[in-house]
Amino acid sequence: MAVTRTFSIIKPDATRRNLTGAVTKMLEEAGLRVAASKRIHMTREQAEGFYDVHRERPFFGELVEFMISGPVVVQVLEGEDAVKRNRDVMGATNPADADEGTIRKTYAESIEANSVHGSDSDENAAKEIAFFFNDDEIVG
Ligand code: ATP
Ligand code: MG
Repeated sequence: MAVTRTFSIIKPDATRRNLTGAVTKMLEEAGLRVAASKRIHMTREQAEGFYDVHRERPFFGELVEFMISGPVVVQVLEGEDAVKRNRDVMGATNPADADEGTIRKTYAESIEANSVHGSDSDENAAKEIAFFFNDDEIVG
């Protein structure tokens, strides 16, 4: 299995509760390496652009407000089959449906404030990484 990259966000509900380290530890223990990381406060334009695929969904406005409600940590993660590995440790979107031992089961507050984002395909991972990082910021 090849080493690939995915894109992760530790969302405002997690940074607010001082869970940056706890969430990162779960990612690392799942076999993912933090190849790039920065703590940012997204602008409205960034949040709307990032979630553009959800623009027509009823929760889009609230989702954008949530994502700009506090700092987030954007990360590039590397590992074998990184997209799937990350999605597996994240757990289901709704924490009520997430498996025991996943990040969302352990820490998420609600279907919206669900602590982490992870890319859902290699193609989207590449786009999302390029949305937030320059190549020289990904140091391995
Ligand atoms: P993410 O893209 O953040 O990794 P996901 O792929 O599991 O999560 P998506 O369907 O892409 O889920 O939804 C993107 C985000 O929108 C979710 O993580 C969540 O924060 C929010 N969201 C999804 N469904 C709802 C909903 N029904 N009500 C409120 N917020 C929602
Ligand atoms: Mg998604």
